[in-house]
Amino acid sequence: SAYLDTIEQGPPDAILGIAQAFRENNRPGKVNLAVGAYRDDAGLPFVLPSVAAAEARLLSRGEKKEYAPIEGLPGFIQLALKFAYGDDCAALKEGRIAAVQTLSGTGACRLAGEFYARFLPKGTAIYVSDPTWGNHINIMQLAGLEVRKYRYLDRATQGFDFEGLLADIEAAPAGSIFLLHACAHNPTGVDPSSEQWRTVSNAILRKGHHVLLDCAYQGFASGDAEADAFAIRLFLDEGHSLLLAQSFAKNFGLYGERVGTLSVVCADAASAGRVLSQLKCIVRPMYSSPPIHGALIVNEVLSNAELRRQYYGDCAGLADRIGTMRLRLIEELAAVGSTHDWSHVKNQIGMFAFTGMTAAMCDELTERHAIYLTRDGRISLPGLNSGNLAFVASAIHEVTN
Ligand code: PLP
Repeated sequence: SAYLDTIEQGPPDAILGIAQAFRENNRPGKVNLAVGAYRDDAGLPFVLPSVAAAEARLLSRGEKKEYAPIEGLPGFIQLALKFAYGDDCAALKEGRIAAVQTLSGTGACRLAGEFYARFLPKGTAIYVSDPTWGNHINIMQLAGLEVRKYRYLDRATQGFDFEGLLADIEAAPAGSIFLLHACAHNPTGVDPSSEQWRTVSNAILRKGHHVLLDCAYQGFASGDAEADAFAIRLFLDEGHSLLLAQSFAKNFGLYGERVGTLSVVCADAASAGRVLSQLKCIVRPMYSSPPIHGALIVNEVLSNAELRRQYYGDCAGLADRIGTMRLRLIEELAAVGSTHDWSHVKNQIGMFAFTGMTAAMCDELTERHAIYLTRDGRISLPGLNSGNLAFVASAIHEVTN
């Protein structure tokens, strides 16, 4: 058909495009440090033992393949919310948190954007961190929101620009939306301290801004999912106008299952009921209802005391290997003679090392050494392992020397 002939090639995705280039390169020893997915020390994808055990239990019982309700599986949603907000969360007990199961964190962010676009005054801007996960910007623009940036990373020190963030909260028109990463900020690995979170929270409250917390790495910052929920629970306690996008892709290793939630904290149960009805109105014409298999797995893990205990250990194990790779990378860099100051990488947290390498250096790593990473200098630490660490460190030394 003629109109198809006029369609131009779309641009590749900044991150997934690199994954494709990696696959197409057949050089032996190539290294993929681009995509934020966990790998074990042999460089292989990893299914958490607790997750595998939960799935086996599910299958042995005989999983039904029925539709979920529009909002998702109620049991899963309640457990997922408790995982984020805490087992004793009063707002949950009061029934004033409206929530739907989503297509992972991306789907949750997209629904949040649609919800804001429908119900906040036209022209309300959403502020995202500079830098942020690139998809945030596309998601929110497609939802019809104006996207602006707040200062987050101090590029001189590669540390947290706390003053810049506070100034931008203050300067934004009252009633704007602030999208914050709940923990393990992507791509910088720079998180506020508890004290800084309190100050940020107060500044946002004073200006009457709305908050969307994006929680894609609960458990990946400290290894303890409870500790990593600090900002979520603080913002809930402080009475913010709060939405939470929750993903189980990374912390449960359920990337392809697409499991998550979007929740909206309301003043009372009646308001939550109305909000839920509107979330369902957004979901139904978009994808009708979410997939069930991954949600049933999370439900099984979180509802069974023994599996849940095992899960917390599994999650700590992932975070531990990532933390070890962070330290060993810095040690290896020193060992191959790098005199560059890598202390910022040591202070970062979560899945990534934000190295401060320029786009030209990243290109050189890819072209000369077949090491793939995003051009902002971000390294996905689980892509490192005993087998490639020395090679990667000497290549980084070579391009940064
Ligand atoms: N938010 C952030 C900050 C992320 O880094 C990611 C994934 O990389 C997501 C959301 C969404 O991931 P998913 O849709 O796989 O849950």
